[in-house]
Amino acid sequence: MNVIPFTMRRTDSAERPWYQQDSAAAFSAFNSCPQGLSGEEAQQRLHTQGPNILPQKREKSVLMRFIAHFKDVLIYILLAAALVTAMMGHWVDTFVILGVAVINALIGFIQESNAEKSLKSIQNMLSSDAIVLREGLQATVATQNIVPGDVVMLRPGDKIPADLRLFEVHNLRVEEAILTGESTVVSKSTAALEGEKSLGDRLNLAYSGTTVSSGTAMGVVIATGGDTELGHINAMISSIEEAKTPLLVQIDKLGKAIFAIILLMMVALFVFGFLLRDIPLGELLLSVISLAVSAVPEGLPAIISIILSLGVQSMARNQAIIRKLPTVETLGAMSVICSDKTGTLTMNEMTVKAVVLADSQWRISGNSYEPQGEFHPVISASGHAAGEDSVLQAFLGAVDRCNESQLRQDEQGHWGIIGGPTEGALKVLAAKAGVKSDAIEVVSKLPFDSLYKYQAVSAVMDGKPCILLTGAPDVLLALCQQQQGEQGVTAIDRDYWENAISTYASEGLRTVAAAWRWLPTVKHRLDHEDLREGMTLLGLACMMDPPRPEAITAIRDCQQAGIRVKMITGDHQETAMAIGQMLGIGNSTAAVTGYQLEHMDDAALAQAAQEYDIFARTSPEHKLRLVKALAASGEIVGMTGDGVNDAPALKQANVGIAMGIKGTEVTKESADMILADDNFATIAAAVKEGRRVYDNLKKTILFVMPTCFAQGLLIIIAILMGNLLPLTPVQILWMNMATSATLSFGLAFEPAEQNIMRRPPRNVRSNVMDGFAIWRVLFVGLLISVSAFMLEAWLQPRGYSPEFIRTVLLQMLVTAQWVYMLNCRNSEGFSLDAGLLKNRGIWLVTLVLILLQALIIYVPLMNTLFGTQPLPLKYWFIALAVSAGIFVLVEIEKRLTRGWRTSGDKVMAS
Ligand code: ADP
Ligand code: MG
Repeated sequence: MNVIPFTMRRTDSAERPWYQQDSAAAFSAFNSCPQGLSGEEAQQRLHTQGPNILPQKREKSVLMRFIAHFKDVLIYILLAAALVTAMMGHWVDTFVILGVAVINALIGFIQESNAEKSLKSIQNMLSSDAIVLREGLQATVATQNIVPGDVVMLRPGDKIPADLRLFEVHNLRVEEAILTGESTVVSKSTAALEGEKSLGDRLNLAYSGTTVSSGTAMGVVIATGGDTELGHINAMISSIEEAKTPLLVQIDKLGKAIFAIILLMMVALFVFGFLLRDIPLGELLLSVISLAVSAVPEGLPAIISIILSLGVQSMARNQAIIRKLPTVETLGAMSVICSDKTGTLTMNEMTVKAVVLADSQWRISGNSYEPQGEFHPVISASGHAAGEDSVLQAFLGAVDRCNESQLRQDEQGHWGIIGGPTEGALKVLAAKAGVKSDAIEVVSKLPFDSLYKYQAVSAVMDGKPCILLTGAPDVLLALCQQQQGEQGVTAIDRDYWENAISTYASEGLRTVAAAWRWLPTVKHRLDHEDLREGMTLLGLACMMDPPRPEAITAIRDCQQAGIRVKMITGDHQETAMAIGQMLGIGNSTAAVTGYQLEHMDDAALAQAAQEYDIFARTSPEHKLRLVKALAASGEIVGMTGDGVNDAPALKQANVGIAMGIKGTEVTKESADMILADDNFATIAAAVKEGRRVYDNLKKTILFVMPTCFAQGLLIIIAILMGNLLPLTPVQILWMNMATSATLSFGLAFEPAEQNIMRRPPRNVRSNVMDGFAIWRVLFVGLLISVSAFMLEAWLQPRGYSPEFIRTVLLQMLVTAQWVYMLNCRNSEGFSLDAGLLKNRGIWLVTLVLILLQALIIYVPLMNTLFGTQPLPLKYWFIALAVSAGIFVLVEIEKRLTRGWRTSGDKVMAS
């Protein structure tokens, strides 16, 4: 192609807008043609015009984001405390408290930046592709690389990647609500329009960001990026929604309740201490404030979002892209997975193995997409070779032309297809027989949709107008009244065809039928009505789509984990059952069909949804009903989907799962999770990760709450008894900061427990702060604080200075919390197992904590700031010994309360 230097011509007011001109004008203005640009030209334009992305929102400055972390009630309390101490001239306290506030904000800030970075990188993984024509060949390019002048092909479910002037349209309907606000779909056309039109009436334009509900089309790009209509209104569409997870909501509520209780206690203690104990006002104020700071689990929300975002990252590394944060939690509670068969449970690499015609049946050799293979007659009335069988030739011509895919050979000589594998297999079949179907000229098309399960073209064959139709055999059998034999057209022999279908289906073969019909005149706009009469069945192509080996293992894993796997397919029930058996799906000896589902009332449907694991000959609307029925009986449902029509079912499901490769943009946008590899095994892996994340969240909560309680309790008891505080306020602040900045993260990296995929799904309706959790808070809280007071009582008569005793107590309390973190590692079994060595997070935070403690105990400056004293090494071991006692008691408690803890889950499993 002769490349003429391209300069972008805008339609300024003097020129007529694109919708008033014919498409040829757009082509010439953008120096393009219906075959598209060349690769170099597109590259060139990308360079000069910039990528096809919307202008980004300006981000908040680093300073502003840092300051935002001071906007928190607890920090306000700290700042107030700093003010009070400053007024009293306790400068050391002021600086320590301010230091704590800054460190707290810093931790929050770093955590937030990390979480944001990971979400952003995942957002990049969500970027979409489009199909363009480059020098007449289809190519898949990233949306952002589309340039003005590119020719874009649209298919159902596509999100339109740029503003287009349409030049070829086949029943294209577009949803433009995001631009026009109208939710009805608009039928598009190609003809130039007269006069001024509003956005919604420019029927020959397709706008970036709108979606194709049905039909196909081709258009030339007239605007990209910020120049599109979408760019003008600049509606940024975020792809990851930030919703609070159910657990976070629970924690928020819990935090508020705790805060209220503590506020009340602060007031009560203040009154008590001031009136009855005569504690100096300033000191009392400070201890009451440290009560608030130590007893409120302020770090918890940050830790939870860290754990969730670590989970999101690790799932993304394993090909499962989470679009909505709560999904991480829900995944772990999933009890049923409804999966598509084709491509998710199977390889999606199809090879036609057999062809069935009215008078003959053929087996075809060869594998994958290489067009090498022979036709062997199994039954042949005429005894003709494949080349001479006229019905076979007509059948092959039909499946070759009623077909959107392309067969290609790459530089290394590998054969591959562009487009769907079903159609690709048919292309390969025709190529094996050397069919030349150039003589068939396609005029108009109806694209495939799993709603009606066929596709058709209106064509001119050797000068004669006709319709070619391919699709699901049961649908075509219902449409056709005749069949094509070598001797001509005869009435259809349904028994023959149905026999053949179930014979081949029981081998696990997927069947596509083809039919045709002659027309008196050329049909320029093909409609579903045109297929209602006069269609003649040509034959069947039966193709193999082997199960994915990894899906077999993944299904077994799910079943062991108490998750039922159900297969939903548009295929024939015999095919589905055969494949189901190969996969090891639970109940694979029976199947229920979409037709049967339609004739069931809700009660029967609920029953069937539980009873059957294979749903055959279904269309997308059945998925929606199934999800609803399963959800109504209390299941947490995961549902996969790829087509536009699957979107409602995906939205309805607890976890809507879209296919990253073959899924349409619309489906992906309605999903909670996207499988980058379309593979069922990825779902099972994500479930495992979801369970691990939830476990670690729960462990962290069970760690943080009791330690907070213990810290608060210490202060309350001290004030009530009116004796000297076991620790000074700044020491309590230190302990709080040192442990919450280190220990709480130790559990975030805890690997999955051994039995994680061998226990039933958890009950989602249970609350984290259940009876057991409250017991644990009281038990451990009392255990730690009582040990501290006992240690104090032991030290006091021995004549140590208050500073010394406080330092020992501080060391003991920190050690006790460290030890309790180890208790929390393993919620059921003994905590000092081999896995302890594998959690590097725990050893890292332990190291940091030892350094911090050494700092406050041995550095002279810190001694003056915090009122501590250097301790002989012996006291580290005394602290450890006391803590070891706590550890053993908690391990015993774990054993004794085992039945109580799991009872909630057992109800669910039965
Ligand atoms: P599934 O994805 O579960 O296999 P589909 O709804 O995609 O189900 O397909 C249902 C049936 O429609 C298939 O068994 C096949 O007979 C037919 N079919 C599927 N894809 C095509 C296509 N591209 N062209 C013609 N027929 C098709
Ligand atoms: Mg499908």
